[in-house]
Amino acid sequence: MKQTFLRVAVPIRVYGTFDYRCDGSRIIPVGSRVVVPFGARTIVGIVVQHVDTPAVALENLVSVTSAVDTEPIFPADLLKTLRWVSEHYHQPYGEILWSALPANLRGKRPQQPKFGHVTAFHVTETGKKADLSSLSRAPVQNAIMDLLKAKEQPVPKEIIQSEIGRSWRSALKSLEAKNWIASRTVAKPPILASPRSIHTLTADQQNARDQIFNHLSHYRSFLIHGVTGSGKTEVYLRVIDEILKAGGQALMLVPEIGLTPQLKQHLESALGAPVSSYHSGLTNSQRHRTWWDAKTGEAKVVIGTRSGVFLPFRRLAVIVMDEEHDSSFKQHLGVSYHARSVAVHRAAVNKIPLLCGTATPSLETVFAVRNNRVQNLSLPQRVTAAKMPTVRLIDLNHATTIEGVAVSLVRKIKERISRNEQSLMFINRRGYAPVVLCIDCKWTVKCENCDANLIFHAADQQLHCHHCLQRISMIRSCPQCTSERIQLLSVGTQRIEQALRNNIPGARILRIDRDTARSYEEFERKLNEIHDGRADILIGTQMLSKGHHFPNVTLVGVLNVDQGFFSMDFRALEYMVQQVLQVAGRAGRAEKPGEVYIQTLYPEREVFACVRQHDYMAFAEMELENRMEAEQPPFFHYSLLRANSPKEGKEIEFLAQAHACAVRLMKSHRFKEIQVFDIVQSPIRTISNRHRAQLLCGSSLPSKLRQFLNEWMMQLEQIPKKGDLRWRLDVDPISFIWCTSAHETQNSTIGAQSAW
Ligand code: ADP
Ligand code: ZN
Ligand code: ZN
Repeated sequence: MKQTFLRVAVPIRVYGTFDYRCDGSRIIPVGSRVVVPFGARTIVGIVVQHVDTPAVALENLVSVTSAVDTEPIFPADLLKTLRWVSEHYHQPYGEILWSALPANLRGKRPQQPKFGHVTAFHVTETGKKADLSSLSRAPVQNAIMDLLKAKEQPVPKEIIQSEIGRSWRSALKSLEAKNWIASRTVAKPPILASPRSIHTLTADQQNARDQIFNHLSHYRSFLIHGVTGSGKTEVYLRVIDEILKAGGQALMLVPEIGLTPQLKQHLESALGAPVSSYHSGLTNSQRHRTWWDAKTGEAKVVIGTRSGVFLPFRRLAVIVMDEEHDSSFKQHLGVSYHARSVAVHRAAVNKIPLLCGTATPSLETVFAVRNNRVQNLSLPQRVTAAKMPTVRLIDLNHATTIEGVAVSLVRKIKERISRNEQSLMFINRRGYAPVVLCIDCKWTVKCENCDANLIFHAADQQLHCHHCLQRISMIRSCPQCTSERIQLLSVGTQRIEQALRNNIPGARILRIDRDTARSYEEFERKLNEIHDGRADILIGTQMLSKGHHFPNVTLVGVLNVDQGFFSMDFRALEYMVQQVLQVAGRAGRAEKPGEVYIQTLYPEREVFACVRQHDYMAFAEMELENRMEAEQPPFFHYSLLRANSPKEGKEIEFLAQAHACAVRLMKSHRFKEIQVFDIVQSPIRTISNRHRAQLLCGSSLPSKLRQFLNEWMMQLEQIPKKGDLRWRLDVDPISFIWCTSAHETQNSTIGAQSAW
């Protein structure tokens, strides 16, 4: 009789799989967890294949210790997608599989979670009669009352927690103390549903809906391109509704945890169906629950952040990706993947449509539209009466400024304060790379060896080249025109806050950035202050440009776009334009249209013409031409090898060996299309006392690059790791700089690599 062997992927950082014998009468199915001996220990792995001929000699084969699952933990379609993720991103298969599971299942626990009895809350008779306006200073309590009143059945504690956010517990206690709400124990979270509301679609929405409905039963990607308020969500809803009627499940991916509670409520009431969520703000058991409900088909609609793309749906019938351009879809910690690329692949495997919606599509998506891989459905107008704000430039060559803010802008802010309206000063810190510039002749400090700007590092007060490691001390006057008006092209939020405080005495200023809003709770509190009109001026970074709408903000100042022209990050300009348009879309409403002012030293640049006309596509087409000429993505494909070590120099040593391997491979003539760049220290040189460096390679031929990486990775595996050295390959990196924001600290997958 022919024997079948099990190929098992194990959750450690090794490339490759291991073969085992399977004793007993039953062959353990592919996609199941098994306990296997591994060296001196036993670990839990996943059966990924049945094979007739094992990769090692029969006498060296050991047997699986035991099976964990009674049915596969990974359905076949998902396994196929994960295999692709592992191959495309050159990440160990076992590690990918493990990170696709909720934390509770990365071990031997049963798939089905134990649902004990849960505590659920309802509004009491006293609460029903209570005057809610007395809660105007207690927004969290108010939100809980709204939530409980909207539901017919008692609402479980976990749901209150996930919908309300982090100060839910104390707010619940206060409400209980007032006897406005009470709790009781229920057997299982009840299905929560509310009645559905229906709009008559606009012609553009109808067209988008019709196009998508023609492709519900096979793979097709759509871009739904429309500004905030153009009715994108309404189109998603129609599609999801149709899919639910046919018994399918829907996945909606969103960039930020913070956006899920509002959206969940909105979807629930619009669809009249329960919506589950999956993101890092939930507890392990909440995530486990959603995972299980997706697998059994109980969860019809799931809203999730990027890792939601790995949920084991029973009958996934559509994937919606909202704000598809957002860089938080890219996972940085541990195994790196881009949820959009995974979603494209998954939709293709499952033969279902993928809807990507945004006002400012990524250049990858625009490129895919150009190549007919994605169908563009545009919603050019707002359905609401709100007008798009007017965008104007402030030419810094001629304007008088105080600490980086134009005097004319300060005047505008004062006008708003006198009208009781709010102003938002936006500072772009993405790709933060302070370039040194002479204000008078526009000379910038360049590296002598490379065609690159030197970057100012605050830590040692020196100018660094990020390509060749050269450093020089900071210059005081311009070598070209002798001017001493030398400026760093970057303005910090703190400096702006100070300048505005000095110049607009008495103004209520609220600064929102990573330093002042460390937790989601703090961020929410600040948002509430804005909505309650307790601030005149908001100063913020990209945290403010996402998803939130500020109707009383009628003036937006964009203070430091120019570094977008200098960043070493090739996506800097794309991000800059996306952010400016996104932040512009946050402001104003029908009766109070917004005005946006952009301060710049380069008013003649073409991008500003596009921005002023809100013509994102014109910008995108133009920028694609630039990328093509400069041989950058999406025309060129990069991979970045990062290494770090607590012992300075070990990271460079490793990369030097890696570089030598790469050069050898290139010399073998099979890989002459590959370019390998020099080793550089990472722009952020040390993180948690680990010294970091990186090595970039790339090619215009993605298949060649993949072959090259395959061979290269196998060689790198062989290099002995000295002194707690760690390395990772980042395929299709979105940035060569890389920072995390407070809201992107999604749970890292596997502990050992958490320093990434
Ligand atoms: P987006 O997702 O593009 O920001 P939404 O779909 O959320 O836009 O729509 C913005 C607002 O307009 C929402 O309040 C929505 O209920 C409303 N809306 C959407 N489509 C229509 C329509 N066809 N008729 C009336 N109101 C609509
Ligand atoms: Zn000069
Ligand atoms: Zn240099």
